[in-house]
Amino acid sequence: MASTKPLRSWFRSPYGLLAAFLLLTLGPSVGLVWLGWRLLDQDRALENQRIDERRERAADQVVASLQRALQTSELDLAQLRAPAAGDDALIVEFKASEVVAYPSGSLLFRPEASTPHDVSTNAFREAETYEFQHRDYERAISALQPLTRSPDTSIRARALLRMARNQRKAGQLDLALRTYTELAAYDKTAADGLPAGLVARRARCDVLAGLSRRQDLAKEASDLYTLLRRGQWRLSQAAYDVHAAEAAAWLGVNRDSEAPVLALAEAVAWLAAQEGRETLDSGRASSVRHNRLVTVLWTRGSEGLRALVAGPRYLEGRWLSPAAPLADRHRVTVTLKEPGPGTVAAGRSASVTGLPWPVLVVNRDAKAELEEFAGRRRLLLGALALLTVVVGAGSYSVARAYAREIAVMRLQSDFVSAVSHEFRTPLTSLRQLSETLNEGRPLEDERRARYYQALDRATNRLQKLVEGLLDFGRMESGAMVYRKQGVDAAALVTSVVNEFHREAGDRGYRVDLNAADDLPAIHADPEALGRAVWNLLDNAEKYSPECKTVQVDVEREGAGIAIRVQDHGLGIPAAEQQEVLRKFVRGTAAHTTGIKGTGIGLAMVKHIVDAHGGSLRVQSAPGAGSTFSIVLPAGG
Ligand code: ADP
Repeated sequence: MASTKPLRSWFRSPYGLLAAFLLLTLGPSVGLVWLGWRLLDQDRALENQRIDERRERAADQVVASLQRALQTSELDLAQLRAPAAGDDALIVEFKASEVVAYPSGSLLFRPEASTPHDVSTNAFREAETYEFQHRDYERAISALQPLTRSPDTSIRARALLRMARNQRKAGQLDLALRTYTELAAYDKTAADGLPAGLVARRARCDVLAGLSRRQDLAKEASDLYTLLRRGQWRLSQAAYDVHAAEAAAWLGVNRDSEAPVLALAEAVAWLAAQEGRETLDSGRASSVRHNRLVTVLWTRGSEGLRALVAGPRYLEGRWLSPAAPLADRHRVTVTLKEPGPGTVAAGRSASVTGLPWPVLVVNRDAKAELEEFAGRRRLLLGALALLTVVVGAGSYSVARAYAREIAVMRLQSDFVSAVSHEFRTPLTSLRQLSETLNEGRPLEDERRARYYQALDRATNRLQKLVEGLLDFGRMESGAMVYRKQGVDAAALVTSVVNEFHREAGDRGYRVDLNAADDLPAIHADPEALGRAVWNLLDNAEKYSPECKTVQVDVEREGAGIAIRVQDHGLGIPAAEQQEVLRKFVRGTAAHTTGIKGTGIGLAMVKHIVDAHGGSLRVQSAPGAGSTFSIVLPAGG
């Protein structure tokens, strides 16, 4: 308990109060900054959570939208509403013997190769004997001639095919070309397992290539390629591929443009190859073919298995586009893929949603959103920083003012004790002298005279002290009245120096006065100015314990005059030279040497000089002495 007492008294001391004040102002503001910081941390976590939740919600809604879109398409499929020609999709119907595509011609090749129903006749055998065994092409052609008029189109087509072949072998190339043209008219009729139109066109290209008839070849190959891509004939994948490759080579083009249709046809082939196709019920699947995402939806109705095969354009236009406003609203991007490692995304796998693709939803501009948040945070931090600075600056200035006040208080109390000391010395001598005189003992005249002189000096000193203090009080309160008149500065300083000399002379001090002639008169209160000079002389004596010579100069400076008092005493450190002009401030010299004083002498000089529109200058160096200059403007 005893230890709390000094603590309590410390808190009651001025510095304790100052510390308490700083604690009370800075403490809460530091707490506030800390709270703000914590709040921001929580805010950031919430912001992240909000972004995550929005993404998850968006993913659910996007999946629901895709489900709806697919159901609509499945309804279309059930009702056999075929996609428009040129759409990036087709519907296929798996019938018992064939696959029907809608729109027709949209399927490049079929799962089932067309079944050739070649009928071998004796006539063909005879022609083949001429052709292959005897190499008698003319005879072979003659043998085939009647068959080209057969009622059976298939026989006609095959006869034409063979005739053209023999003509080529016989070197009758123009004839062969013509025969192939004739054959081409049989178009879809099978000739040796392939549609006559395809075989004839391909053969024409071959002949034209052999003849180097480039232009004709280009036209023929282009027709062939166009018809192939239009799904003109029912072909197996291999037959399509071989012929398309040949045609493209003759044309000198690459096959990239086939990719959309090829992708769809391959997807149909994939579905057809599914095990247990006959029992397939309904389903959804997707795969990437030719760099394109192909989606297959299939259902089994009363008519059998039907499938919608759709490419990316259809997917975008029919299924993804209804989800686009949703994505915009939630500021997310929807992609149909599995999440990669490290992606911040809401993923929905196909096995969970039942959709043919995985769905991946990412925030479109999570960075920008967090940036927005960071902006808000910067603002708050800025406000907190400003608050700290304002509170800090406020506390600092209050603390400074308070510290200054404490210093003044201390100076004042020093002043009071210094004044008491100053009074004590003359009062003590007065009491001793008056007691001695009162004793009534007979004294020698000389001794009595000395006593009276001492009495006079003590009284004088007291009077000067009292007058000085009263004047200082007036100066401080602004009540000092200066009775200014035209004054001869040299004469005034001379009389002050003489008076000072009388007093200080017997203490061994010498004042050398050097007053210039023809100095301009100044407008001044002689008594106040005299006091100022006296104070400087008094200090010069007090702070020069070793060298007892004081130099006083009165001279012209610019348009005015300067009164300089120079000593060779203790001097004043540079850092103190302005400070000592303030009231109650006593310098290090005074403190270390114990020289008595009240700390108001120079403050009074400054008051007086200021009141005369002049300036007070100090030049000093510790150990080398000081020069105080009063510079006053001239004016009578
Ligand atoms: P006081 O002399 O009563 O202390 P002043 O206001 O006259 O008060 O002087 C203030 C301080 O300036 C002194 O305490 C002293 O340290 C310093 N000082 C003044 N005059 C001189 C001087 N001539 N030489 C050295 N120091 C001086």
